[in-house]
Amino acid sequence: MASAVLDLRSRPLKDLRISLTDRCNFRCTYCMPRSVFGPGYQFLTPSSVMSFDEIVRLVQISQGLGVENIRLTGGEPLLRTGLDHLINRLSQVKGIRQILLTTNGSRLTQPLAKRLKESGLTRVTISLDALDEETFKSINDVGFSSQGVLQAIDYAAEAGLTPVKINMVVKKNVNADQILTMADRFRHSGHILRFIEFMDVGNSNRWSYQDVVSGQSIVETIHEKWPLKPLAPSRPGEVARRYQYADGGGEIGIISSVSQPFCTSCTRARLSAEGKLYLCLFANQSVDLLTPLRQGADDQELAFLWRTAWTTRDDQYSLDRAAIPVMRNKVEMSHIGG
Ligand code: SAM
Ligand code: SF4
Ligand code: SF4
Repeated sequence: MASAVLDLRSRPLKDLRISLTDRCNFRCTYCMPRSVFGPGYQFLTPSSVMSFDEIVRLVQISQGLGVENIRLTGGEPLLRTGLDHLINRLSQVKGIRQILLTTNGSRLTQPLAKRLKESGLTRVTISLDALDEETFKSINDVGFSSQGVLQAIDYAAEAGLTPVKINMVVKKNVNADQILTMADRFRHSGHILRFIEFMDVGNSNRWSYQDVVSGQSIVETIHEKWPLKPLAPSRPGEVARRYQYADGGGEIGIISSVSQPFCTSCTRARLSAEGKLYLCLFANQSVDLLTPLRQGADDQELAFLWRTAWTTRDDQYSLDRAAIPVMRNKVEMSHIGG
């Protein structure tokens, strides 16, 4: 086992989220609004994006610093072709316990889900913000149907990528009326629906505290209809507070990043698609690992850069949010993948 590398708040590095691309086929209004991510938006050039070889090498180095869990995300990670090959290689990195994927599900076919499972993918999280077609289409802003995402969830479950987790970002006056509809749809399904507070990631989504529906109020709304019982965390540093339906309807999760921050147990680092290391979802600075890698740095040199970044980290943005003046140039969610 790798020796723990601790940051300035004694948090070990355990999890690595890797953005495989900054591109996406959706334009979710809370993430990549068209007004910003329109035809003139400068996405990363293909040559500036990490190759699979480069990703595998950085994962091997991160494992030596304590990383056990890898989450592949984006943008939309399924836009990268050959993802099963990458997963297969990552699953062979000694010490990596779980390889997880967060996707909008739009490109997840039945054969692909099967291939991803066979390649070593542990589980999948699929984002779905509403069942109501009109609401969902107006959120993803490309007219993609919620039925299509439900189909992807079925494919993932059939392939054994279970339990499937479903992410629903809740925004006031947008999809809060879907909380009970979504809860009802996924009760007794074996899937775990997770409600996420709308966050102030990046600079593009016109975030306002007024639009946040608190995790607590979501729990109360559901509890009134189907009583809930809190569950203990399944692992240290888990971001979701877990509940189970008292009638045996299964589990839900609440991710209250705004109203109940979990910075004290944050063990996550993030790699953007162009190989920059971010130590907080709300960071406006990063450490470039890909440039030195491409210039011939050896593993020790890259590990040194990474270790130095982690051991000098004291980020706790969500805990400090109220005291931080509006911060410009935060990295975009589509760049580092949540
Ligand atoms: N495209 C994939 C997807 O949507 O699942 C992966 C990348 S997406 C950035 C990862 C997760 O972040 C999704 O579940 C998405 O709903 C969530 N997300 C994006 N912007 C958010 C925001 N401002 N607040 C809270 N969650 C957000
Ligand atoms: Fe794309 Fe995911 Fe962002 Fe939606 S949340 S725009 S699917 S990256
Ligand atoms: Fe971790 Fe930053 Fe989120 Fe706090 S705000 S939980 S430090 S990513």
